Amino acid sequence: MSLQALEAWPSWLEELNEDVAVKRRIAIRNGTYVILNSKGGRLDSLNYQAILDALQSYGRKFETVPFGDVPNLDPVVDARPLAATYIPDEGGVDAREVLESVVAAARGRGVTFLDDMITGWNRNGDRATSVVTAAGDVIEADRFLVAAGAHSGALLNDLSDGDRSMPPVLAGKGIAMTCESSASGISHVVRTPNRAGDAVCTWFPATERSTWARPTTWR
Ligand SMILES: Cc1cc2nc3c(=O)[nH]c(=O)nc-3n(C[C@H](O)[C@H](O)[C@H](O)COP(=O)(O)OP(=O)(O)OC[C@H]3O[C@@H](n4cnc5c(N)ncnc54)[C@H](O)[C@@H]3O)c2cc1C
Repeated sequence: MSLQALEAWPSWLEELNEDVAVKRRIAIRNGTYVILNSKGGRLDSLNYQAILDALQSYGRKFETVPFGDVPNLDPVVDARPLAATYIPDEGGVDAREVLESVVAAARGRGVTFLDDMITGWNRNGDRATSVVTAAGDVIEADRFLVAAGAHSGALLNDLSDGDRSMPPVLAGKGIAMTCESSASGISHVVRTPNRAGDAVCTWFPATERSTWARPTTWR
């Protein structure tokens, strides 16, 4: 599925870019360094090896970085990478920019956004006919697309009559921050392997001088 997503991103972004103003156009930053350091425990080593095995078995390009020496990465001495691999076809986009562009494109096509919470449904037999918002508005539609992330299950529970049609989705808490570089910032994504669940430590070069870091996620 990840490989399919990797193939789908460029053409999907191209379509999105056609729908938004030039200043909002988004480009993929290609190239990711995966580092193995000793801050995360043994699971890091196992998952680092699993990445190398997967790259090999799917015939993807990758390069071993001598001495784990990632350009412009200046770690504290006890957190230096023990090894690093450069994956030219993996990369990143700024999720905030993508969401802003999706909203702009949707508005351009006549979508209206209501900033409110869905608190319940009205039904006619086994069909949902309208949603009720926290502000008390009732919105009718023929079809509803529920995209409430980890809260989708709870919302759908009200409709399901005990027959859950959706697998449970767990919420993950995390921290992300933007840092200003005082020297040359990183020019590619730098990340660790998965540490537990989906906890990956990622640095993303947001602009020339700033880096978006997602230090960790936990459940
Ligand atoms: C710190 C952090 C870093 C991450 N980094 C990455 C990364 O680098 N790459 C990556 O691929 N993924 C990353 N993820 C995971 C990614 O953010 C999620 O997988 C993704 O956001 C899920 O998208 P979603 O649309 O399903 O749900 P969400 O993004 O959770 O969106 C659901 C929306 O529904 C709204 N909502 C919920 N209940 C209701 C309701 N009753 N009525 C109305 N609205 C409601 C919520 O307010 C929210 O806006 C990260 C997550 C965290 C926490």
